[in-house]
Amino acid sequence: MYSEKSLRRFFEKTIPDGDCVKWIGAKNRKGYGRTYDSKKRPAPAHRVAWEIKNGPFPEGMLALHSCDKPDCVNPDHIRPGTHKDNMKDREERGRTNRPFVGGVCQNGHRLDEGNIYYDGPSRRCRQCRTEYWSEREKTRPKRNRGAA
Ligand SMILES: [Zn+2]
Ligand SMILES: [Zn+2]
Repeated sequence: MYSEKSLRRFFEKTIPDGDCVKWIGAKNRKGYGRTYDSKKRPAPAHRVAWEIKNGPFPEGMLALHSCDKPDCVNPDHIRPGTHKDNMKDREERGRTNRPFVGGVCQNGHRLDEGNIYYDGPSRRCRQCRTEYWSEREKTRPKRNRGAA
């Protein structure tokens, strides 16, 4: 458990940054906030933020950011994951970001401001999503609502 004093000290080192919460205290080389956990052991600030909200962090897991900002301590942007998850995220990000460079998605839709939405850190095409869902709607077997 975090004492009231340590919580106050923690939140004093944060400022809102859009949807994120920026850590303005000490940071390590990689840009992660440095602080102490409830057992007074040095710990990354974003992991501590997660613990403050959710309780003890799962042993052996990494605290991964969905927003891709190492200094963000918004617990809603942080989730436990493995090193493998982290690599997979990166890879997927690289893959999804690539088609956007030329200004069109992989299906050739123009990606102007109005046609992009964000899924975590990934930019996606609204038109593709609309088409995907209307396609699913058509092919979905008819079933009584609530019967599942
Ligand atoms: Zn964030
Ligand atoms: Zn598209």
